[in-house]
Amino acid sequence: MKSKEVEKFRYDKTVYVVAVGNCGTCYYCVNACPENALREWNPPTVDNSLCTRCMKCVEACPRNVLKIIR
Ligand code: SF4
Ligand code: SF4
Repeated sequence: MKSKEVEKFRYDKTVYVVAVGNCGTCYYCVNACPENALREWNPPTVDNSLCTRCMKCVEACPRNVLKIIR
């Protein structure tokens, strides 16, 4: 996802981050998460009670699997 698009939603708790699509199980997203909100799965799952919507996982994913949804 383009960084400008991501920037719009950073720390916006009215949106959710979800993993959809062809995950390569590299877990760059898991390692990028400062809140330990992502669980290693194929694709990973996000614990929304921990997620701050910092979007670091979205930016770390090389396959654009992590999406921002309303
Ligand atoms: S960074 Fe992307 S491809 Fe890698 S594990 Fe996470 S969702 Fe899957
Ligand atoms: S948006 Fe930030 S806090 Fe939420 S799962 Fe991704 S990296 Fe973790």
